[in-house]
Amino acid sequence: MSHEYGPELLGYLQAFDQLKEAIYIVNPQTAEIVAVNDEAGRQQKLSREQLVQRTVFDQQRDIRDLAHWQLVVQAIRSDPDYVFSGRHIRADGSEFPVEVSSHVVVWDGTEYLLSSVRDITQRKAIEKTLHDLEPIMQFVLNEASDGIWDWDLTTNDVFYAPQLKRMLGYGPYEVQHTLFTWQDSLHPEDAERILVATEEYVSGKQDIYDIEYRLRTRNGDYIWVHDRGYVCARDDNGRALRVVGMVHNIDEYKKLEVRLRELATIDELTGLLNRRAGYAVFEQQLQLAIRQRTVLTIALLDLDTFKNINDQFGHQVGDRALRLASDTFRSRLRASDTLMRWGGEEFLLLMPDTSLAAGLSVCEELRQQLENASLKASGRRIPLTVSAGLAACPEHGKSIKNLVQSADKALYRAKSLGRNRIIG
Ligand code: GH3
Ligand code: MG
Ligand code: MG
Repeated sequence: MSHEYGPELLGYLQAFDQLKEAIYIVNPQTAEIVAVNDEAGRQQKLSREQLVQRTVFDQQRDIRDLAHWQLVVQAIRSDPDYVFSGRHIRADGSEFPVEVSSHVVVWDGTEYLLSSVRDITQRKAIEKTLHDLEPIMQFVLNEASDGIWDWDLTTNDVFYAPQLKRMLGYGPYEVQHTLFTWQDSLHPEDAERILVATEEYVSGKQDIYDIEYRLRTRNGDYIWVHDRGYVCARDDNGRALRVVGMVHNIDEYKKLEVRLRELATIDELTGLLNRRAGYAVFEQQLQLAIRQRTVLTIALLDLDTFKNINDQFGHQVGDRALRLASDTFRSRLRASDTLMRWGGEEFLLLMPDTSLAAGLSVCEELRQQLENASLKASGRRIPLTVSAGLAACPEHGKSIKNLVQSADKALYRAKSLGRNRIIG
């Protein structure tokens, strides 16, 4: 087949050989392929000579006949952005999806179509995968028990999935899609820890973001959640640009954990008997003392201005102080004495077969020991002292309630007289 096109066109065709896209020059009247570049041959698995023997009808599955072809040519003429989507046929009969952009060009007074053909097999495959995933995505966003979020760090916009809003009791349109919404919902006791962990993760200091904390619900209650996040894009400095994550409601599990801890007998922090278990021991000791007509002396020990330690040095130092106090007391006690954690920073000491006077001197010894013990934080020695109020059975009563009330009154006096003292 011979075609007349000038030297200019040949020059262009040579340049087209450098391109990664398949280029065709087609006669718009007859649909005959006039010339192609190398890439067209590679795409079709045919030589250039074989290709220029073909017409658009041999090549394109989705163009039916000359009448259809003329409609397509008309569309190309009237719309410079027109893109034809179809399927190309290889020599072996196999097909692949293509997108064809065409323009009318004129050389030496003759019109041609200059078409570039893009093989979109891969894109189609991705589209299919995405299409197949669509129901799963809808399910995950709406129904799955985990609430998905997607944080754009360049704007601090955050997408919250419907399920996450529902978990917190909100309707689909009640939540602002900003970072502030989340920050504002953090429990005040968790906020600092969580914000630090988040910053460390997005800045790349920490490898994982996997934390538990409390979120405020619409009615003001808090629920425990487990939150995990993954960075999907970082900038050149390693800072996250986008993070997606999942929030899981673990409130029931946490409540069960608290209940189990209550059922246990040992206080986790200090290793002492907890109040519930200590109470049972108290009852036994009291009955024994009454039966054997011996004196049972009890002491309520309360750490002085303990709130200040938490406020100034943080809760962790506060916990260390509690351990230091309980260890100090425990190491000075007799085998028959029972020390328990009665409340936050309050301890109850049972001293069977011990007079009030003897009890006072035991507690005075504990007070001094604690005063001399060293609690250090931020390179400083932090003063840690205790006040105690004592009561004895039968002198102050024969029931736990009356004894504790008397001891509490004495403790109150010790506090009002300036703390770091024992009163009974
Ligand atoms: P006072 O001398 O009158 O006893 O003053 P205080 O600050 O010790 O009294 P208050 O009862 O107001 O404060 C007790 C503090 O103990 C408040 C609470 O946050 C803290 N606390 C209770 N339990 C724990 C705990 O397990 N760990 C820590 N770090 N702090 C606790
Ligand atoms: Mg107290
Ligand atoms: Mg106190």
